[in-house]
Amino acid sequence: MRRTSKQIKIGNLKIGGNEPILVQSMTNTKTSDVSATVNQIKELEKAGCEIVRVAVLDKKSAEVLGEIKRRINIPLVADIHFDYRLALIALENGIDKLRINPGNIGSYERVKAIVEKTKEKEVPIRIGVNSGSVADKYMNRSKNLVKALVDSALDSIEILESLGFYDIVLSVKASSVPVTIEAYQLLAKQVDYPLHIGITEAGTILSGTVKSAVGLGVLLYEGVGDTIRVSLTANPVEEVKVGYKILNSLDLRKRGVDIISCPTCGRCEIDLIEMVNEIEKRLESCAYPLKIAVMGCVVNGPGEAKEADIGVAGGKKEGLIFAKGKTLRKVAQEDIVDVLMAEIENRKIEI
Ligand code: SF4
Repeated sequence: MRRTSKQIKIGNLKIGGNEPILVQSMTNTKTSDVSATVNQIKELEKAGCEIVRVAVLDKKSAEVLGEIKRRINIPLVADIHFDYRLALIALENGIDKLRINPGNIGSYERVKAIVEKTKEKEVPIRIGVNSGSVADKYMNRSKNLVKALVDSALDSIEILESLGFYDIVLSVKASSVPVTIEAYQLLAKQVDYPLHIGITEAGTILSGTVKSAVGLGVLLYEGVGDTIRVSLTANPVEEVKVGYKILNSLDLRKRGVDIISCPTCGRCEIDLIEMVNEIEKRLESCAYPLKIAVMGCVVNGPGEAKEADIGVAGGKKEGLIFAKGKTLRKVAQEDIVDVLMAEIENRKIEI
């Protein structure tokens, strides 16, 4: 059961409530380099990214946000630390959401100036608390990182609410998977604002994918989380791909190809590993939710292949092609991938 949360508008989308769990990412270009940033956002859009965040660390980056916004199609989030004036410029430039940590913006008056402008522009704020920057006073108070993250978020909410501001999205990310899970679980019980979930500084593609899948998987399975960001030390397009894989694996979204392939064993008599990698590569940009079974032999092969939209069960240097439960034909090993692709194209699926 999904946790019930308030719904917040962001550009032409909504976060929370019964809305689909949105996949977001963050650019790693210099934001002030408009063409590099726009090009990367276009790549992210192609991969299915639904919300994009950019780091705004100087006046120039804040001033070009209007131009970036005009050239992209998904909501734009400005990520701002320390300098409240950058937030005001970003808001004037038409951003769709602001990510701040009120704890590092300075005085109440400065937070108030930001909140007044966000109200005027009808832009939501994400309070993004992060284990790497949680203020000492919270750690000193509780000596417990989970509690420190949640206390920091609750204090920030109090500040915004005291200013009559309620369009809030929250995150309490840590680089530790258990800490992140516990912090979100604790926070989810205390507020009904939508939650942006993620494991921060999760690492390279392999380690970041595993940490994100474990951490976000637990939370999402418990119904916690309204938008996800997978953090990887990699091209952000990879974050989007992993994000959808996590959501697809829990049947929360359907996007792209789901390949069911066996691990291979002594019974396999075709080059299955090579074949499945080739299929994955060729279908990399396919957004259609296609289920493909690539199985090594007749033990589990026909059963799985029949469940899939399309599939192959290996034999001796050949494969039996199935589609929607029907056996189509036997083809030689070297033709299997091409035949599968042709069958997919015959079904008018855009690859
Ligand atoms: S499907 Fe066949 S080849 Fe693949 S792991 Fe199972 S028994 Fe082995």
